[in-house]
Amino acid sequence: MEFQKNDHVTVTIEDIGSDGEGIGRVDGFTLFVKDAVVGDTVEAKIVKNKKNYAYARLERVLEPSPFRVEPRCVYHRQCGGCQLQALAYQEQLSFKQKKLRDSMIRIGGFAPGQVDACMEPIVGMEEPFRYRNKAQYPVGTDRDGRIVTGFYAGRTHTIIPNTDCLLGAAENKEILEHILSYMREEHVPAYNESTGEGLLRHILIRKGFASGEIMVCLVINARESNLLPAPERLVGRLGRIRGMTSISLSLNYDRTNVIMGREIYTLWGRDTISDTIRVRDMRASGYPCTGEELVFSISPLSFYQVNPVQTEKLYSLALEYAALTGREAVWDLYCGIGTISLFMARHAGKVYGVEVIPQAVEDARQNAVRNGIENAEFFVGKAEEVLPEFYEMENPDVIVVDPPRKGCDEVCLATMVKMQPERIVYVSCDPTTLARDLRYLCNGGYELCRMRGVDQFGMTTHCEAVVLLQKTGHI
Ligand code: SAH
Repeated sequence: MEFQKNDHVTVTIEDIGSDGEGIGRVDGFTLFVKDAVVGDTVEAKIVKNKKNYAYARLERVLEPSPFRVEPRCVYHRQCGGCQLQALAYQEQLSFKQKKLRDSMIRIGGFAPGQVDACMEPIVGMEEPFRYRNKAQYPVGTDRDGRIVTGFYAGRTHTIIPNTDCLLGAAENKEILEHILSYMREEHVPAYNESTGEGLLRHILIRKGFASGEIMVCLVINARESNLLPAPERLVGRLGRIRGMTSISLSLNYDRTNVIMGREIYTLWGRDTISDTIRVRDMRASGYPCTGEELVFSISPLSFYQVNPVQTEKLYSLALEYAALTGREAVWDLYCGIGTISLFMARHAGKVYGVEVIPQAVEDARQNAVRNGIENAEFFVGKAEEVLPEFYEMENPDVIVVDPPRKGCDEVCLATMVKMQPERIVYVSCDPTTLARDLRYLCNGGYELCRMRGVDQFGMTTHCEAVVLLQKTGHI
């Protein structure tokens, strides 16, 4: 069967693609229909035609899937942030469980039986909205020249004005409205990506969910921090908001998609906010807190997990998998502000953390002091450069890695294999690079023992997991 662009077709959606799109077949021809839910029968319009497949736009749901739910956000189809809002949350979890399993088999080359024997059921969220503690809002102007902020539409840099994203903290709306009012009153121009002109580029808001402390950082297109007009007016508005703890500027004058600049100037309040993380007993029902908690300082440039409720479960599993007895030497690679390192340090002989962002390492060192932990040491640098300097050192017992989406550098993996720790705990936010790296490590004398998804990103297709590898010695 041949389709032409703009043809209308009726199709039943049988599967979900890795970007959350619905997949259906008509006479052996595959259709990818964004916003269609598995189980729906829909009318769709062909928008892009290829030889054996086509992309189509959802026009009408003819028969809704039993898994279809009413999305809470009116922008869910346009906005690039959420892909799965119309899919029932339990089905989102099954989708992620399957995504993990499929990458292990297809990319990692693991046998299905082995994956099934190791994989534990994904840990879901109790409340899959308002879970994010961090948001970065781009600032721009609409067609009528009005200043707007919100989120990028999928695959574009067009801003959909929305100050109340339902994944974020309720306070974001008030903060953003104040900043927009301040900009209008003081004639602060929004940055224009195509000309490189204008001042305000992005607004970063972070909230410590346990502490209630809020940080706002404005990213401006300027070389000097004094180029923001009437900062006292901005501070006057924001400083009154309950929980406001730190207001800062970041200077970013590069023509780049990178959001934050490298320098930060505190305008008001403290340089960091604090937050507390508690470890839970993941083997007990309802995951009760074990009473162990640590407090962390977080600066604007440091990475901090975006979903604090699920992070407690993720770290608890990482700790359980590490199975520390109090004597072990542990490396925590890609350690950020030392969160995992410091929980491990409580149960280990010595912990070494490695992180590339200097401000994050500064936070990590202060966090150790703040929590009275003396057996943790932190190095600034790339994991693949710092680790090889130490591989002749006494073999570590456990190596933990928690890399960004692109996974570990091969030099880092090769060094881990040379160091031959008893156990490797791999925390990952991308199932494809996870599977690739696990294959490398398993070819280097390790065996897949346990793995478990932890949903950190409800309503989106992103998928987090933690894996335990054990040394076999067979290469
Ligand atoms: N484990 C931490 C941070 C995980 S995010 C936590 O749970 O909070 C990944 C971290 O790796 C980020 O802080 C990032 O700055 C850092 N990073 C990225 N590339 C790196 C590299 N090549 N070597 C070391 N750290 C790196």
